[in-house]
Amino acid sequence: MDKKTIISVRNLVKNYNGFQAVKNISFDVYEGEIFGLLGPNGAGKSTTLEIIETLRDKTSGEVIVNGYDLDKMPGEIKKIIGVQLQTSGFYPGLNLVELIRMFSGLYNRTVNPMELLKKVNLEDKAKSKSKELSGGQRQRFSIATTLINNPKIVFLDEPTTGLDPQARRNLWDLIREIRDNGTTVIITTHYMDEAEQLCDRIAIMDEGKIIKLDSPDHMIDELVESGFERPKQVKAANLEDVFIHLTGRVIREA
Ligand code: ADP
Repeated sequence: MDKKTIISVRNLVKNYNGFQAVKNISFDVYEGEIFGLLGPNGAGKSTTLEIIETLRDKTSGEVIVNGYDLDKMPGEIKKIIGVQLQTSGFYPGLNLVELIRMFSGLYNRTVNPMELLKKVNLEDKAKSKSKELSGGQRQRFSIATTLINNPKIVFLDEPTTGLDPQARRNLWDLIREIRDNGTTVIITTHYMDEAEQLCDRIAIMDEGKIIKLDSPDHMIDELVESGFERPKQVKAANLEDVFIHLTGRVIREA
């Protein structure tokens, strides 16, 4: 398959008062993939992503997004990316339709709020306020807000943290749908099962460096080929399988 690079990062460095949080990293993100950035807290993931999102200055290096050089055309980059807003920024007095109208005003875009809510399966919550939503619904709404400007790339920061197994799977389906509609997705997560199921490729960061970049499948195969064995016999199912088997995949929160 012919892959087109949509984000190119070369020799990116970020220093905070003498502390080097990002240590000369280079990587490409391909158009139309779900790209996961994984790593322990403090690895430099947020710093890297916020630099690409034009929200933070870099110390040195080159970042090209959709052909736009971050140093020369940050405004063009802003126009074609969608970044998740903090749910705390959802004014409590406004319902979902009103919130979408307000955000689209900020982006200088006209969108059909119901169409957008339909995309994330929240049409029947159109008149609800965000505090009246369940955790999964709030995350879906937050993802909807990233789609307002019809972006080429969306950045999702731990979108399923704190959700129950059904709501997580429901969100995975939504994220796959966004990718299948042609949008590139960059996601951070601390759930390895999520990264394994969802991401086409993964970069693992640690202490400011990318220590591995590959598809989850290749990474696992490589580890197994190296002679790695799990310490004890693994069962053919796990507790999450039991939970999903008993309670089904239907969404209860609606
Ligand atoms: P991650 O997202 O992987 O948890 P971050 O990019 O948030 O990592 O942080 C990487 C490192 O940079 C951490 O050691 C963090 O303490 C430090 N750091 C992040 N932001 C700042 C800042 N504004 N000033 C100083 N140090 C920072």
